[in-house]
Amino acid sequence: MKDNTNLICSLTSPDAAAMRRDMDDAARHGADVVEMRLDFLAAAPGRDDLRMLLARPRPPVIVTFRPRREGGRYDGDESARLHTLQLAADAGAEWLDVEQDVPPSARPRGAKLILSHHDFEKCPGDLDETFAALRCEKPDVAKVAFAAAGPQDALRALDAIRAAPSSTVALAMGEAGVLSRVLAAKCGAFGTFAALARGAESAPGQPTLQEMRSLYRWADLRPATAVFGVVGCPVAHSMSPAIHNAAFSAAGVDGVYLPLLVQPGPAAFGRLMDGMLARPWLGWRGLSVTIPHKENALAYVGAGRCDELARRIGAINTITIGPNGELRGDNTDYAAAMDALCAGLAESGALSQDIRGDTPRLRHDLLAGKPVALLGAGGAARAILAALRHYGADVTVYNRTFDRAAKLAEEFSARAAGADRLAALDQEIVVNCTSVGMHPHVDQSPLPAIPPAVRVVFDTIYNPVETRLLRQARAAGCTCISGLEMFVNQGVAQFEIWTGRAAPRDVMRRVVMQRLL
Ligand code: NAP
Repeated sequence: MKDNTNLICSLTSPDAAAMRRDMDDAARHGADVVEMRLDFLAAAPGRDDLRMLLARPRPPVIVTFRPRREGGRYDGDESARLHTLQLAADAGAEWLDVEQDVPPSARPRGAKLILSHHDFEKCPGDLDETFAALRCEKPDVAKVAFAAAGPQDALRALDAIRAAPSSTVALAMGEAGVLSRVLAAKCGAFGTFAALARGAESAPGQPTLQEMRSLYRWADLRPATAVFGVVGCPVAHSMSPAIHNAAFSAAGVDGVYLPLLVQPGPAAFGRLMDGMLARPWLGWRGLSVTIPHKENALAYVGAGRCDELARRIGAINTITIGPNGELRGDNTDYAAAMDALCAGLAESGALSQDIRGDTPRLRHDLLAGKPVALLGAGGAARAILAALRHYGADVTVYNRTFDRAAKLAEEFSARAAGADRLAALDQEIVVNCTSVGMHPHVDQSPLPAIPPAVRVVFDTIYNPVETRLLRQARAAGCTCISGLEMFVNQGVAQFEIWTGRAAPRDVMRRVVMQRLL
């Protein structure tokens, strides 16, 4: 970091008294600076309001009174707006944020100047020129905030901070821009903005103060901090940032893990990867990959740099980036599923005396010859079928769309059956890879009832932790395995691939449970 980057809490309170309370709250919760967004107040503040708001003791304050033309809420008279900003400077505000289009002669004086430019449509074509135009006017801080089309725009914001000769804020707004907000600290920005609470954001994509500090490990970010993330679309619901950041904290790993919203398609995926690899100074070390990019990831990394089963599955969920940009691809989904299944079988005792007491991972081969009914023929089914067949299980694929089941089964030398055969299935082990029963359709089950031959049911769904299918199975006396185990296992495997250390499994499991229950 060039200097300490300020964690700035934007206050969007509806009245002056609430803003004062929120300021005290923000300071208590670790904000270095607060930004008072006067345009969010129901009525423009007068001299007395500003004196009350700026009375000490308090943290350092930026006062912003953003007009509609620059994405704010104020649509009144311009000279009244500038007069209010002048009153704020007179009352002791440390900084005023003033828009670039305000003529220098009309700008309030008496506080440090943050000169800002906003683009709510796109990243300016030439960001360097945009900054150069701001710096010509010699502000104390030059600030550009723009809408991000993808994480590659957020990387451009970081380039601008890194290249800046003086105090700078460069923010990519929107969900795709989160990395510019968090990694601003690695690049030495003047500051980054956070909301006091969810729903109180002053700009799209703004994390909360709490997320910055506890989820994204703000206090621990250093220039050398390794960067990881999950690539997907959608990605906001992903629990991976919570799991991996908690694991980094618990294990003392100098790393941070971010959500990366990348639109579907190989081109968008390639843009992110090219952008990351072109910036080795950011310290990218690994990516989790989720829907719809697992196949794109394998294609980008190259089959020759992926493990054998991942090649057969045609998808990877893990990319490791070496110090010189060398890539490796892994699929931790299938091993995670096999570990969960074998641990469940070992626990059950009744079915599998032969694998009780052994490390599940070492005993995958004991799946050989076991009769398995695999429900579903999508991405998860494909990975699990490949692994089950690899270890010699005798698998029948059941799917609503029979043709998909038939095609998948043929590829891996398994059998196929239509959904009409589900009620009569006669395998001992059932693995559900359909999305039937997943939140919010928690009252649905892929099986009308548990057939008598079934002894073990593994539902890959992890939200909810106990699905209707698992409740049916428990009532029928079966051994039940939740998708939660698979989900934790795949994260544990990623952590171990990236760090070479044993993962704090209990911490990771607890984080998932806290989010799901
Ligand atoms: P996918 O590719 O979209 O496949 C969905 C499958 O569900 C297809 O076979 C589809 O049948 C079937 N299906 C969907 N709605 C159905 C309905 N109403 N009735 C009958 N069948 C239906 O999804 P995916 O990526 O394979 O994910 C499937 C499940 O695996 C998800 O629930 C997910 O939670 C779980 N999963 C868990 C983990 C973990 O770590 N625990 C990891 C990955 C996935 P058709 O072919 O007929 O459309």
